[in-house]
Amino acid sequence: MQWELLTPPEFDRLAKEEQICVVPIGCLERHGEHMPFGTDSLIAHKIAVEAAKKEPCVVFPPYHFAQIHEARCYSGAIALPQRLTLELLECICDEIARNGFKKIVLFNGHGGNSSFLDYFLKSNLGREVDYTIYLIPMYSSGLSEEETEKIKEICGKNGDHAGEWEGSLVMAAAPGSVKMEQHTYAEPIQPQGRLNHLGRVRTLREWNAKYPYNTTGCPSKATQAQGEAMLEIYIDAFVRDLKAIKADTETAKLQSEFYEGMKR
Ligand SMILES: [Zn+2]
Repeated sequence: MQWELLTPPEFDRLAKEEQICVVPIGCLERHGEHMPFGTDSLIAHKIAVEAAKKEPCVVFPPYHFAQIHEARCYSGAIALPQRLTLELLECICDEIARNGFKKIVLFNGHGGNSSFLDYFLKSNLGREVDYTIYLIPMYSSGLSEEETEKIKEICGKNGDHAGEWEGSLVMAAAPGSVKMEQHTYAEPIQPQGRLNHLGRVRTLREWNAKYPYNTTGCPSKATQAQGEAMLEIYIDAFVRDLKAIKADTETAKLQSEFYEGMKR
């Protein structure tokens, strides 16, 4: 049930009966030479849309305007100012809730959003709202051991950037979007050790210092069939999350208790 495809009677019924809206969050970011900029949002959106067919909920359009400052040196990135990134997501959540959805699920498909979304989630306690936000960190994390094993059997790994794993997934999520003939980097693409001398000290450019093409591993090994097989596992895991969220009443209670405790 994609928000943008619904009519008012369908939309109002879903808002009333299901109460959940999923926001698939990614970014616009270079994914090697051969993959679409919207890869992360497109995969998260596909998983959410397919899961919604099994466990009804409304899925917001792919949300691209998150944290991607580190890729601004490459073409295709859109990174808004910090303040605006937070405010925009806050306003979107408020608008979704105003439309009747009291459980909003932020479904993250971009590793670079992790800290931003953690902060967004916690800092939302700074104001009183009539809805609860749930964050699912990355579709590849938090799977059962069995699911992780299955993914590894299919593709050899559970996560990479613009390599075999992610390339396969976007081939399945958005068929025709990968142009493998444009991929020219020698494989395997190994991390460069330009900042190894700093040990645990972090800097502004750490990930890209390892992978200057924004690409890892062996992109040419990606196939749509692998992507489809992996998507099934991620979709089932997401359906499980949706069931748990639908059944949850404790989060709203904890939030009310928190608001009460804030009053002095
Ligand atoms: Zn990605």
